[in-house]
Amino acid sequence: MAVMNKKIVKTILGFAIIVNGLAACSVNNDTSETIDTKPVEQTTTENEAPLEEQLTMSLVWYQTSGENKSLYLQGYNIGKTMLDKKLAAGTEKKPAIILDIDETVLDNSPYNAYLASSGDVYPNHWDEWVNKAEAEPLPGSLDFLNYVDSKGVDIFYISNRRVEQMDATIKNLQNKGFPQVKDSHILLESDTSSKENRRESVLAEHEVLLLFGDNLNDFSDLFEEKNVKERLDTVQDLRAEFGNKFIVFPNPMYGDWEGAVYEYDWEKTDEEKKKDRKESLNVFKP
Ligand SMILES: [Mg+2]
Repeated sequence: MAVMNKKIVKTILGFAIIVNGLAACSVNNDTSETIDTKPVEQTTTENEAPLEEQLTMSLVWYQTSGENKSLYLQGYNIGKTMLDKKLAAGTEKKPAIILDIDETVLDNSPYNAYLASSGDVYPNHWDEWVNKAEAEPLPGSLDFLNYVDSKGVDIFYISNRRVEQMDATIKNLQNKGFPQVKDSHILLESDTSSKENRRESVLAEHEVLLLFGDNLNDFSDLFEEKNVKERLDTVQDLRAEFGNKFIVFPNPMYGDWEGAVYEYDWEKTDEEKKKDRKESLNVFKP
């Protein structure tokens, strides 16, 4: 998961509280601040459900649907087919693949379910979840990556978990049996949430055959900070890459798709975000 800054004005039991913090599982470019571990107050009023409760339906789908499981399997099956095809064609440099970590190889949905059920907000308890190092592998990921490893292909995990979370991330991935889990193959966020420089560092020595992620920013910087229409248009422009070089996994819980709806103004109040969400919809009017 990546981080974003958030300044929230909240009213809880009639008291206005101003809190500086970081909020949910999303990205912006201002990553100069380190994670503030002070608790971020949740937004709620007596009569209104917290914004986080809107996560519930996404989580029901993510955690219970066979459709979600099959989409992960589908993505990794396509990955294997394409890997075999590309290796057979030969590469000029050492072959590699790049994967995101969160919601690509590791399932953090229990943390998001905590947010939805409690109304608490990211990053409260996110470090605690990461440090438990118990996130489960997503369907198909382990089999696929062990196959990739058996073919002598380098695996790079590029994640916007912060560098301070390296040890816990290595522990989690190793405990679950992922291959090539070592410092030099795990590129976490230090100074920028953009993954472009980290991708380029891999490209310097490797031919990257495939990229896997749940966020379009896992594939190209063409998507960074783009609005809803620009993101959709860029997907159209790059349509030949999906299922070929880019393998996308579903994440209805969080991502830059959400930031795009707010025009990346994560400091908007929950009420403004709710309004943006509703206004982004294409609605049938009977
Ligand atoms: Mg991710």
